[in-house]
Amino acid sequence: MSDSEPHSDFDPVAPNAGEDFDPVDVFPDSDDFDLRPGADSCYKCSACDTNCPVAEVDDDFPGPKFQGPEQWRLKQQDDEDDHEIDDSVMDCSNCMRCDDACPSGVPLSQMHNTARGEYVSEQMSKTSVEYWRNRVLANYRASAWLASKVPRVANFAMNFGPARWAMEKAFGITSERDFPEFATETFREWWERRGAAAGSRERARERREVRGLPADADKRVAYFHGCYSNYNTPEVGKAMVRVYEHFGYEVVVPEQKCSGTPMFANGMLDDARRHAEVNVSSMSDLVEQGYDAIASCTSCSMALRQEYPELFDIDGIEDVASNTFESVEYLRIHEDLRGEISDADIGGDLADEFAYHAPCHARNQGLERQAVELFGDLDGVGVTDVGNSCSGISGTYGWKAEKYDTSMKIGDEMFDHMEAADGETGLTECPTCAMQMEHGTGYEIRHPLELLDAALVE
Ligand code: SF4
Ligand code: SF4
Repeated sequence: MSDSEPHSDFDPVAPNAGEDFDPVDVFPDSDDFDLRPGADSCYKCSACDTNCPVAEVDDDFPGPKFQGPEQWRLKQQDDEDDHEIDDSVMDCSNCMRCDDACPSGVPLSQMHNTARGEYVSEQMSKTSVEYWRNRVLANYRASAWLASKVPRVANFAMNFGPARWAMEKAFGITSERDFPEFATETFREWWERRGAAAGSRERARERREVRGLPADADKRVAYFHGCYSNYNTPEVGKAMVRVYEHFGYEVVVPEQKCSGTPMFANGMLDDARRHAEVNVSSMSDLVEQGYDAIASCTSCSMALRQEYPELFDIDGIEDVASNTFESVEYLRIHEDLRGEISDADIGGDLADEFAYHAPCHARNQGLERQAVELFGDLDGVGVTDVGNSCSGISGTYGWKAEKYDTSMKIGDEMFDHMEAADGETGLTECPTCAMQMEHGTGYEIRHPLELLDAALVE
């Protein structure tokens, strides 16, 4: 943990403010995943249903109350072995807005994830096109790794019209969207070329001297970059490293796999567990040595701090959950970020008006206002919050041909608000929300870390 004091004007919001993380335990007295204790907290107010973006645009979707508590009650009534999970659980996008909406603390997304995992493992045909399409989408890291070996060829092939037409017809991946470009140098390649942890230690030492901090200040973070910052937008990872070093932090980039977010959403819990085991093992070793885990993607931080302890029992998982933070959140807690921002300004390309969208997973971590509040004090930029609607893409959801129209209908409100805001650049922490924002408006989209980098470092 950093030894810096929390800055007084920041009021971090639950669930994680550096205190011990206490995940909801819906299996308190059972070792057979009996979800009834969670189901019994539901008093059928329907707040979850009225906040579900899929239910709002799709009349056939029964909504989170049915997917969660009602289905689990039915499971208790039926003979457990005979009970079939309703296939509509595959229409839930795992945006997790229902968790946030429930006044009774029913762990809805945990119920959905568990039900989806059971549906996929026991009811879905393993020879169906849908199963393999979902598996490929959920394991984006594997395709991205392959593409990163020949990025220029991959960028051409992935957006070659006839290939996209065939992928939609044969495999059900929509041809309406442009595939994101693969970087010609991944974040990890850049990190190694720049001197990796030893280089970061040296730069952090120099910055501590400039800032008048003790050379041995306990400022160490382990960066969870996720797949997208590594393979597609390394500029976000580079900005993260530069901004943290600016404040005197030594950064390490441990071995890591996918956070598991797209796997939870597709019911691929065995795949997610394999990846989580690697991530927890790397991160828990570092947490034990005093590092905090920092993610630049709000879905990755959500997975490490909430979904892992809810779904898996892996050694060290709770230590990792309680020491994981989103990248800007952590700086707001430990540094006078607002003070530095108010003395800074931005010129060049990033001097602009931004339409900011708070990802649903940022909302679930209480982070939906931080970018707007923070950059409100920064000379040279303006930030407009485009409201609290869901972007609609939800990771792999909006890439499925049969979900594309639903995804765009959900996104309509956000697109309208972006277009009504000043400027033509978007801002968000989530890489797939960024894809949807760009797809719906044609705007270029930036990450808050890029603004911090431009304001404080460059
Ligand atoms: S996670 Fe999102 S899409 Fe799924 S039921 Fe909850 S609110 Fe609806
Ligand atoms: S919001 Fe919570 S209490 Fe209300 S119906 Fe949904 S699960 Fe039940």
